[in-house]
Amino acid sequence: MIILINFYDLTIDDLAAHLVASGFKKFNATQIFEWVYAKSVFDFNQMTNIGKELKAYMSENFSLLDLTLKTKQQSQDGTQKFLFELSDGFSIESVLMLQDYGVSLCVTSQVGCNMGCSFCASGLKYKNRNLSVGELVMQVISSEKLSGQKITHIVVMGTGEPFDNYDNVIKFIKIVNDPKGLQIGQRHMTVSTCGIVPKIYDYADEPIRSNLAISLHAPNDELRTKIMKINKKYPLEDIIEACKVYFEKTSRRITFEYILLSGVNDSIELADQLSDLIRGLNAYVNLIPYNYVKEFGYERTDMKRAMMFYDRLIKRGINAILRKEQGGDIDAACGQLRMKSE
Ligand code: SAH
Repeated sequence: MIILINFYDLTIDDLAAHLVASGFKKFNATQIFEWVYAKSVFDFNQMTNIGKELKAYMSENFSLLDLTLKTKQQSQDGTQKFLFELSDGFSIESVLMLQDYGVSLCVTSQVGCNMGCSFCASGLKYKNRNLSVGELVMQVISSEKLSGQKITHIVVMGTGEPFDNYDNVIKFIKIVNDPKGLQIGQRHMTVSTCGIVPKIYDYADEPIRSNLAISLHAPNDELRTKIMKINKKYPLEDIIEACKVYFEKTSRRITFEYILLSGVNDSIELADQLSDLIRGLNAYVNLIPYNYVKEFGYERTDMKRAMMFYDRLIKRGINAILRKEQGGDIDAACGQLRMKSE
């Protein structure tokens, strides 16, 4: 049996190297990339400007498959959640959101997650494996086909810790950013991490400048370690130091995500600690309403208290926004992805 190469695993440079090694021309890679990603032609035989021999070679060696859709749910606010089945039977979810500024896709980076944050449904199942580059790209292709929408923004904020699957996530970003392909702008993509410090340094050195978001959720080590076990390994001081270096190298504004958990991390005193922690970093805080997960004991902070927290940050000179919730009615909101279809 011949095992086909997943076309979506390759950057344009990978494809060019492969084709040149097989006796074709480098520019053929550009042609094929444009057909697939810019013109949405998913059959090599329909690529009219490439030769017969190359068409046959591509068809014999490469696959252009879709992810298998198991279920699709649509929220009242237009959010769509897709549950896909992978070739080895595992399931993953992607969430498409209609925003004022475009269409955003939240992609999953791993099957399960090992970070074990105490509030997040995605960590209820341990990591089975990383997603391949192709599986990351296929979430975009398949979601576009299923929704009929052109995806303009990507957030790597689905199940999994993207910096625990670093190389594949970076390659994915390169592929979807390629000017000959989907052309999703660097500034339109955000990778979110729970704070894997060495990878923040690596990310600062990447030529592609997609955005960085850090799931902070607590402004001191005692509390953060209580709710996010990764903090034991990478405490706040190390994260903040890495953020400084990241900002010096990239001049890009960092987002700190902060879920408001009632009675846990939402006091005025903690708002003050948070302000002191991140002052001078050119960052902003994304305050996220907690989405209920029945296995955990947390409650969402009510709107009045959330506004007080927000106002306090603003008063102390910190940029902040209170994020609106999307897809809550279909369990597609942050922290609710758990690979269930029922
Ligand atoms: N592992 C990465 C990517 C996941 S991003 C990270 O931790 O950043 C998903 C975001 O949603 C993170 O900020 C995460 O902390 C947050 N989140 C998790 N559970 C949530 C919940 N129940 N309600 C709201 N946000 C949640």
